[in-house]
Amino acid sequence: MNTKNSEKFNAERLTRVIGEYPTDGMYSRPGPFLLASAGIHGNEPSGILALRRVFEKLITNKPFLKGKLIGVTGNMAALKQGVRLIDKDLNRVCTPEFADRLIAGEIAGFQEGSEFHDLATIVESLENNKKQEEFLFMDLHTTSSMTPPYISVNRKKENFDFAKKMPLPVVKGIEKFIPGHFDHFLTLKGHTGFTMEAGQHDDPKSVDFHEAAIWVVLVDNGMLDKSVIDYSYYYNLLKDSSPTQDNFEVTYRLNLEEGSEFVMEAGFENFSEVKKGQLLAKLDGENILADSDSRVFLPLYQKQGSDGFFIVMPAD
Ligand SMILES: [Zn+2]
Repeated sequence: MNTKNSEKFNAERLTRVIGEYPTDGMYSRPGPFLLASAGIHGNEPSGILALRRVFEKLITNKPFLKGKLIGVTGNMAALKQGVRLIDKDLNRVCTPEFADRLIAGEIAGFQEGSEFHDLATIVESLENNKKQEEFLFMDLHTTSSMTPPYISVNRKKENFDFAKKMPLPVVKGIEKFIPGHFDHFLTLKGHTGFTMEAGQHDDPKSVDFHEAAIWVVLVDNGMLDKSVIDYSYYYNLLKDSSPTQDNFEVTYRLNLEEGSEFVMEAGFENFSEVKKGQLLAKLDGENILADSDSRVFLPLYQKQGSDGFFIVMPAD
């Protein structure tokens, strides 16, 4: 597998559609359609690099693929500047109602509104494609703190079953705290999928994990034959990446108002265990303590963002 760290994200090459395979547009073979989205946050190019690798290999080796894989870019303007967002967090404005209004011709008036307009248009055309038997998706992200790869799913049995085919920890229920993310939009549209957080934004391993996840999903959902790729290599790469394959649920989110002073205590990683009463962060000079034995999730170590941290607890 390609692990060269010299692989650089080239924003000049950005296109809304990263790739399609088979490359035959509307005339794809019947089967599941897998929409893989990446760069919904502009400081997270890992998924785009992974999708470029996957499409390069598919187009070179031309294996038989049932259905279709389509890779799309999220926040193009933010990716070009290397920032999380321009006007608003794209991963908070994706609602079916807003999509309908945009497609009907409403002008969004902010950058992420027009990014979402493009994405919603692509989703609609995939939904209308008669060769599409099942609409699967994976939204590829990375985090500001170090983390083993994990999957986040909206609460829906199909999403959870789809996610559990992957040898990774699964976190349920983020939609209660942050509605309007792209995964939430696709789930509400009736599709099945998850969000994958592959690791820290700039860690080259995040690209490897994203790539591995795309191959594993293609094989596990009957789109690609196992023999075409080194399946067990990719599967084990994911399996060995994480100390746990347990499930968790989100029970708390610390909201950050605009302009608030937030400093996360140093040293937390995703899923770090914390004890009741432990100092987690300072918000406008006040100490924020853990109110139970639990785990910290998505601690914020970057400037942009309105989620200070989340708390997760073990779940079935
Ligand atoms: Zn993200």
